[in-house]
Amino acid sequence: MNADRKQGGYVIVKCPSLETRWIRPLFKDVRQPLVAFNETSKYGGAYYKPQSGEAFIDGRFIPCDTGIIEISPASVGEPLEDGSTIAHEWRHHLQRTYFGWQFDSARWDTLKAERLGYEKSIRRYFRKSRMEADALRFQLRAAPSPIAAYFDELMHGHD
Ligand SMILES: [Zn+2]
Repeated sequence: MNADRKQGGYVIVKCPSLETRWIRPLFKDVRQPLVAFNETSKYGGAYYKPQSGEAFIDGRFIPCDTGIIEISPASVGEPLEDGSTIAHEWRHHLQRTYFGWQFDSARWDTLKAERLGYEKSIRRYFRKSRMEADALRFQLRAAPSPIAAYFDELMHGHD
């Protein structure tokens, strides 16, 4: 990994980096987001669009002006899943900064998911949002992984 481990438990990767080198040539004119590994995140990945102010990631404030792709260490060390998660979040970056899409995704609700059941919740999550379905499709094309394939299978399955 082409990154420095900083105090506070997170790692910031400023492009060009190993993590996004494969994806950059596809979108040369898109401003690079930061990639941050967050040890306290409960999500596999998250995306913060470019905005003023800072994000509080793993005990540190990080400027948001280029956009941030946040990766949970649950997937770090699993190269397939790392790349796949980055591709998914990268697509959200394109949607917001390049395509001009409005946010249409529901936040993942752990309590609701427990009531509804995990698989049903995943299915609804991807079906209800054009943004999430598109990011999943892109992820499967650009950097397929077992988890992405599993989500895709769920999305196309029946309740
Ligand atoms: Zn997403």
